[in-house]
Amino acid sequence: MRVYNFSAGPSMLPLPVLEKVQAQLIDYNGTGMSVMEMSHRSKAYQEINDAAESLLRELMGVPENYDIIFVQGGASTQFEAVPLNICVNKKADYVVTGNFAKKAFKEAGKFTDAVCAASSEEKNFTYIPKLTAKDFRSDADYVHICFNNTIFGTHYNYVPDTAGIPLVADMSSCILSEEVDVSKFGVIYAGAQKNVGPAGVTIVIVRKDLQDKFQPICPTMLKWATQIKEKSLYNTPPCWSTYVAMEVFRYLKENGGIKAMHETNVEKANMLYDFIDGSSFYKNSVNKEDRSLMNVPFVTPDPETDAKFVAEAAKEGLVSIKGHRLVGGMRASIYNAMPVEGVKKLIEFMKKFELENK
Ligand SMILES: *Cc1c(COP(=O)(O)O)cnc(C)c1O
Repeated sequence: MRVYNFSAGPSMLPLPVLEKVQAQLIDYNGTGMSVMEMSHRSKAYQEINDAAESLLRELMGVPENYDIIFVQGGASTQFEAVPLNICVNKKADYVVTGNFAKKAFKEAGKFTDAVCAASSEEKNFTYIPKLTAKDFRSDADYVHICFNNTIFGTHYNYVPDTAGIPLVADMSSCILSEEVDVSKFGVIYAGAQKNVGPAGVTIVIVRKDLQDKFQPICPTMLKWATQIKEKSLYNTPPCWSTYVAMEVFRYLKENGGIKAMHETNVEKANMLYDFIDGSSFYKNSVNKEDRSLMNVPFVTPDPETDAKFVAEAAKEGLVSIKGHRLVGGMRASIYNAMPVEGVKKLIEFMKKFELENK
């Protein structure tokens, strides 16, 4: 039996994609082998690699003056890659809105003069600062933001104006959930395992003018220019993960693209937030206008009841809903692949649990 999996990542994938992958598992497209077994230099894999790139470009409307690469190491490796790849004045400004944003900031400090331009830590990361160009050093090489904060359930409802300083965004937990104007960003990166595909592949989208600003010490494997030049095939790529991601892209395209996904995501998130806000038992502490469509943290009146909620929900097939250890309580991650029915079932359970535990 399939459960409704509210995990923050790795997380649910669309069932039709899993079924297609299963059907192609031992004989991909008449090659007589699995994608897991095939040379990354083979024609079949080259086609997968090319299709992944072109489908993602089409879905996100990535302009021609950007390159897309599929690399290993997760979003965490990009925390290091960013300061090593974009360095002119050796200054970078970071906006600290959560745990991952903080990690990115700390990592950057090893390779550049990284400054925290703004933070929401004083309110336990429950809001997104309203940034203007004045918040940044005019000679900063880039400004780094985390567009959706997976642990704290916040999201930028605007793209900050940096007065021309390249904007670098970690979109690990919101990529493909909503339409974004890629041209407003210098670099976008995202680990796949939240809203795209299996763990192991990381998407990096880099504007062309930012590809030759790497530090001399930048390791070959972390240098975007290396993988851009080789079309993500400088070394053995995460073939399987990229292949499944490609099938997810195809599925999204066949099902109305990002616009349709976003509409459903808004519907799901509104249902859940409206229910929480209307209840005196459950609570979400995030500033309303900064709430994430993807990650919805909430608590009951006390930690013991939270633990009971998590255990009983699992018995109903609503799994991995425990909040991150930094926040406690619960967190429902409702990425693209979570069906509307999953959220409805969660709300029904929440109603029942409230009546029994008030
Ligand atoms: C999960 C996550 C990361 C870490 O991703 P890894 O692929 O595990 O390195 C970084 N940033 C955000 C916003 C995340 O949600």
